[in-house]
Amino acid sequence: MNIVLLGKPGAGKGMFAEFLQKHYGFTHISTGDLCRKNIRDNTIYGKIVEEHISKGQLVPLEIILDMLKSEIKKEASIGFILDGFPRNIIQAKELEKIVDVNAVLMIDVPDEIILERISNRRICPNCHKIYNLKDTNGKCLECGTVLVKRADDDLKIAKNRLQVYEKETKPLIEYFNKKIIVIDNSSQIDVAISKVKEIIDNLLKKTGENV
Ligand code: AMP
Repeated sequence: MNIVLLGKPGAGKGMFAEFLQKHYGFTHISTGDLCRKNIRDNTIYGKIVEEHISKGQLVPLEIILDMLKSEIKKEASIGFILDGFPRNIIQAKELEKIVDVNAVLMIDVPDEIILERISNRRICPNCHKIYNLKDTNGKCLECGTVLVKRADDDLKIAKNRLQVYEKETKPLIEYFNKKIIVIDNSSQIDVAISKVKEIIDNLLKKTGENV
């Protein structure tokens, strides 16, 4: 069973993906993480990816597809959690040529909360775990490394990313239509997580998959 996580930047897609990976054993594919890895490793795509990320723009389709396809080839599990892919209808059509999409969890959070969360979001440069600054002493709780802000979490770039979401990604709600399941993640995270768990348990029961 393959699940797409849809939502604005900062909506919490990564956090839900991590939960689904740990709890059910799904394989988490984050195209944002793959982009950042290409920059860090200075690959043939690194420079062009960085140029787009730093402006809050989408990375060209051929590059993203190449990254995605090599991950999908590599992994074998009960299914994939696609976090940050697709970002528009063209990507959705490409995805459906490679794998079936069984459900789309649309993580819903209003813009004011998104901007507040993005301005407090920090990442561990060593193990890449994501934190809200308010929940830490500025250091990674796993490895103790000093947390940093993602360059594209700068307020001006974050606002650009929200505009890209409205124009490119939001039409996917209509595109995926009956596959969409809306999760409200504007207040308590544990309530949203229980809702996701209930939904996935039901989907797995319906498809007869055991985890
Ligand atoms: P994320 O970590 O998902 O917020 O992604 C960070 C940045 O990576 C985005 O703002 C884009 O520049 C790039 N990116 C991630 N996923 C995609 C995608 N599916 N298509 C194009 N660009 C992407």
